[in-house]
Amino acid sequence: MKNFLQYNPTKLYFGEGQVKQISEELEQGQSVLVVFGGGSIKKNGVYDAVMTELETAEATVYELTGVEPNPRLTTVQKGVDLCKENGIDFLLAVGGGSVIDCTKAIAVGAKYSGDPWDLITQKAPIESALPLGTVLTLAATGSEMNMVSVISNWETNDKLGWGSPLVYPRFSVLDPTYTFSVPEHQTVYGIVDSMSHALEHYFHRTENTPMIDGFIESLLRTAIETGPKLVENLDSYEYRETMMYLSTTAFNGTLMNGTDGGDWASHRIEHALSAVYDIPHGGGLAILFPNWIEHVLEDDPSRVKQLAVNVFGISPEGKSDLETAREGAQALRDFWDTLGAPSRLADYDIDDSDFDRIVEKTFIKPGVGTYKQLDKDSVRDILKRSL
Ligand code: NAP
Ligand code: FE
Repeated sequence: MKNFLQYNPTKLYFGEGQVKQISEELEQGQSVLVVFGGGSIKKNGVYDAVMTELETAEATVYELTGVEPNPRLTTVQKGVDLCKENGIDFLLAVGGGSVIDCTKAIAVGAKYSGDPWDLITQKAPIESALPLGTVLTLAATGSEMNMVSVISNWETNDKLGWGSPLVYPRFSVLDPTYTFSVPEHQTVYGIVDSMSHALEHYFHRTENTPMIDGFIESLLRTAIETGPKLVENLDSYEYRETMMYLSTTAFNGTLMNGTDGGDWASHRIEHALSAVYDIPHGGGLAILFPNWIEHVLEDDPSRVKQLAVNVFGISPEGKSDLETAREGAQALRDFWDTLGAPSRLADYDIDDSDFDRIVEKTFIKPGVGTYKQLDKDSVRDILKRSL
């Protein structure tokens, strides 16, 4: 193992009815900007429950509504302006990963005099942030308990991940009943995204990590067992709570303890893809990830073989490592297919006409991949396999 620091200051309030904690967490009489998306929280009652708590805390409430899936810099700027005009003390994100990521960018932008894009592109250092809390309504990204955010700039067609310890949420409310209304396709994207986060952690090259490897394998087996049952029973508390805890754990820092952090090339390529085509993040990953795995196993099948045996229960008896690994990659592909996830770029009407642009955008920051360092030809190969 490598030396590591385990640090995560986010308080997690998990379970039905935990929304009540909001009024305990907030100081009385604060100015709170509530950030949310296209309106799902008004249909499922979450908005009303949150407003009741804000009333109890005697908050002065401002609202930023309409945060898009794949949140945009223009919306971040609207939130920053609201903060600066109204002296906002606290930000409350109510939604999925897009709403939370947007809120994190507003938190740092509100404390900066220039264009928030400078902070996201690391042109300017992040020195302070408004405090934020979250009410999660979609199990997928882990943003509710990490320091990461992903923002799209449609002027430059860039979608960039960035992070700062200053944007860990102070608290997050995770009530599985709030996810009952997530439609089937979005539920599937959430399963794919959280499994991808776990898999990306798994592809590290650090020796002697049986604890973390076993933890990731267990998380993946749980997703494989629970995912299909959840898709058949979208309002099952039992399956929703399992997936909610799973998706948070898959990307809250725990799975990096003692390793080199894993290989996040699939996320880099997906961000480049959805910067050009604005497709759902989980859908893009379902298409790209099995092809990334097939690309890397040709050089070194050892890790994929371990995945095949320990997660998918494939017997290695009488097979070469490469054969077992190939079966493992196919098993992942088949599992996501069975859930109804997209499997080809053609599912989003995407052909190879913009591959040059996607490849360039993948390398917007230098260094793609650690388990296997990718060059531009490798990324092109993964995209071709995905057609
Ligand atoms: P999302 O983009 O936040 O939401 C997708 C859709 O689900 C929206 O249309 C939203 O509708 C709807 N929705 C959310 N909760 C709902 C509910 N309870 N009932 C019904 N509909 C609901 O999806 P996401 O997968 O959570 O976030 C994706 C974004 O996060 C991408 O930009 C991705 O790149 C990023 N990401 C971030 C991290 C990170 O660590 N920060 C990690 C991975 C990915 P409304 O708008 O109407 O609410
Ligand atoms: Fe993700």
